[in-house]
Amino acid sequence: MQGPLMKELISLVYPPRCVACGEQVLDEGGLCGPCWRQTPFITGLVCDLCGVPLIGAAEEGVAEYCDDCLGVLRPWSRGRAALVYAGQGRRLVLKLKHEDRHDLVAPMAHWMAQAARPLLQGASGEVVAVPVPLHWRRLMARRFNQSALLARGVARRLGIACAPAALRRIRHTAEQEGRGHDARFANLAGAIVPGRRARERLAGRTVLIVDDVMTSGATLSAAAEAARASGAREVFALVLARVAKAP
Ligand SMILES: [Zn+2]
Ligand SMILES: [Zn+2]
Repeated sequence: MQGPLMKELISLVYPPRCVACGEQVLDEGGLCGPCWRQTPFITGLVCDLCGVPLIGAAEEGVAEYCDDCLGVLRPWSRGRAALVYAGQGRRLVLKLKHEDRHDLVAPMAHWMAQAARPLLQGASGEVVAVPVPLHWRRLMARRFNQSALLARGVARRLGIACAPAALRRIRHTAEQEGRGHDARFANLAGAIVPGRRARERLAGRTVLIVDDVMTSGATLSAAAEAARASGAREVFALVLARVAKAP
């Protein structure tokens, strides 16, 4: 039996469900109406480095930055986030991370690809998506790298290359949770390095670093530095969810 018919039969037996609450929905890999409205998608004016929503109206061709990004050197040039890490946004990230909910990857990658489109419009040359790597010990414990799944899905939707093994995490760093801003950066410094074939895959290209959550940006910084050390022409950052301070 071929694709579309098979799909239809499967959906008769297993009707598509909302990825957040499990209610029946019309489309596969989506959210039901109420869950959609509860999910804090980022729209409108955003910080051009981390994607956090800003107050005000977007002006064509003018980049705005949040206070966080003005106060620290970001080793990447532009960034976007699909969701605010709060409420339903946070719940969805935790489901992906800790409940092995691989069915979430497709809709999440779709949201992230949408958020990344403005970055790609301004990119020159070939763009390659690179996930933030996990240390092998954490990979063993968790069995999969959620950032790699997202990077692959984003790359497919944007029609760009993906180099999941370009970067390597050489130190098993303690959880960032509960650490202050400076301690987070110190904890991650030098923890991510170019992999064996990084130069071959990244040199001269625009690298889109992909991660699930951005808090301080310490992890993204470590990955962006490693991409730059591999000869990347430019580095962009893309996350599923951005932790935003309460205004
Ligand atoms: Zn729902
Ligand atoms: Zn920012």
